[in-house]
Amino acid sequence: MTTQTHSTPLPDQSEVWCPPLGPVQEGGLARPRIGIAGIAIESSTFSPHISGVEAFTVRRGAELTAYYPFLEEGQELRDAAEWVPLMHARSLPGGAADPELYEAFRGEIVERIKGAGHLDALFFDIHGAMSVLGRQDAEGDLAQHVRQALGDGVLVSTSMDLHGNVSWELLESVDLITCYRMAPHEDEVNTKERAVHNLLTRLRSADGADVHKRCPLKAWVPVPVLLPGEKTSTRIEPAKCIYDQVPGVAALDGVVDAAIWVGYAWADEPRCQAYVVVTGDDETVITREAERLARLYWDAREDFAFVAETATLADGIEAAIAPEAPRPYFLSDTGDNPTAGGAGDVTWTLAQLLASEPLAAAPVRLVHASIFDAGAVAQAVAAGVGTAVDVEAGARVDHNAHGPVRLRGTVYSITEGDPVAGTQAVIQVGNVFAIVTERRKPFHHVSDFTQLGLDPAEFGIIVVKIGYLEPELFEAAAGWKLALTPGGVDQDLLRLGHSHLADGVFPFANPEEAPALRATIHRRQPAGS
Ligand SMILES: [Zn+2]
Repeated sequence: MTTQTHSTPLPDQSEVWCPPLGPVQEGGLARPRIGIAGIAIESSTFSPHISGVEAFTVRRGAELTAYYPFLEEGQELRDAAEWVPLMHARSLPGGAADPELYEAFRGEIVERIKGAGHLDALFFDIHGAMSVLGRQDAEGDLAQHVRQALGDGVLVSTSMDLHGNVSWELLESVDLITCYRMAPHEDEVNTKERAVHNLLTRLRSADGADVHKRCPLKAWVPVPVLLPGEKTSTRIEPAKCIYDQVPGVAALDGVVDAAIWVGYAWADEPRCQAYVVVTGDDETVITREAERLARLYWDAREDFAFVAETATLADGIEAAIAPEAPRPYFLSDTGDNPTAGGAGDVTWTLAQLLASEPLAAAPVRLVHASIFDAGAVAQAVAAGVGTAVDVEAGARVDHNAHGPVRLRGTVYSITEGDPVAGTQAVIQVGNVFAIVTERRKPFHHVSDFTQLGLDPAEFGIIVVKIGYLEPELFEAAAGWKLALTPGGVDQDLLRLGHSHLADGVFPFANPEEAPALRATIHRRQPAGS
């Protein structure tokens, strides 16, 4: 299980501030032994795609330590501990994970923990929205197995995506738990660094060597609200002002960390909703602050709106072809966003574009990024650039909304060797340039287009399988609408048909009486305390 089909390096956030570690207190651990392990995937149960071994990048040993910029040679956090990299598996978002693969990963983590010798602590690096076929609350299960293997004296610090879910089973198996404070996740590295920083601070404190005293309290408040990521960008209100409160809470006396999870909307599991956890030693403060943040979130539930104007695809096309539309004009094909868990080969949108008479008549060129279909790419390669082709492409995995689409046009370009996409073909059909990749790939960067001979600045309309635009595309876009299209991550949650959510979750239910939003306090009690 060492497949490396796509190796996504963590973004460079070296400029993000993380305070220096304080000195080692008397009674603290000067150089603890800390394991690193986890599984990170965000997977939709509404997509027929199954995330198998090919989807994961598995890191072990020095390669795992090197994954974290803050653990590079010479960094303070690196030198403050003896790091024991165990195993970490990370995938692009996709459909539910293969259960045998999940169990193999879990088994390896457990075995490596057992074989690691004495550990003082574990850096548990997970996403929190892993769906596994036939299973619910996979991270709760993983955390329980990890805890069992570690024994209860080992301090566990958990780093998560804010689109993860915090079940009680997960919460009670770990000691520290935090998540991103930004969406898009520009603070991804900083969050992992904070999880490690908090862990080391705890171990270096006067209670650091005392397994009975070093576990902090956690105030946990489930918030019965489940929203799509595209409504909860922290760049805009109300999420912005709610998340702006988090660092201030974390800085209070008696508080170690504070975090708010949006939860994951495209899995049909009882744990899927928002959560607040405030960690610390002052029960009064963490309870008050966790309940306050939960109330802010609940009270704002009706105010969360899409990050950009939404439209049906037909209305989006109409806006995009209007002569006065700014160029380039972006349309997000949101229902099949592969970085949220969509299969990435839903053809519904491309089929509509190809069939659109107003678009065909408009004096504008459009790029569609993208669908994957290895067979169609091979046909384009065999034909060669500049040659006419007639191929069926896409919908090999997710054909719920539409079957394969017929591309009858000319091969515009062939590009080989992309580490994620493999070979990529651009097929021009009239004024539509359809990108077909050998393997599933999200398009987030301008270079993803330019390497195919497609300069976004030279195209009037760019349709991309994405939700909110990633920073570079956001910069490149002169106009933008979110098209509410079908797929495994349909943004119109109510038409997906969830049936296993907890009772009373907004907007699936809208109870007249506000929930109590009371914090439950948890503290792990190692045996003998
Ligand atoms: Zn996320």
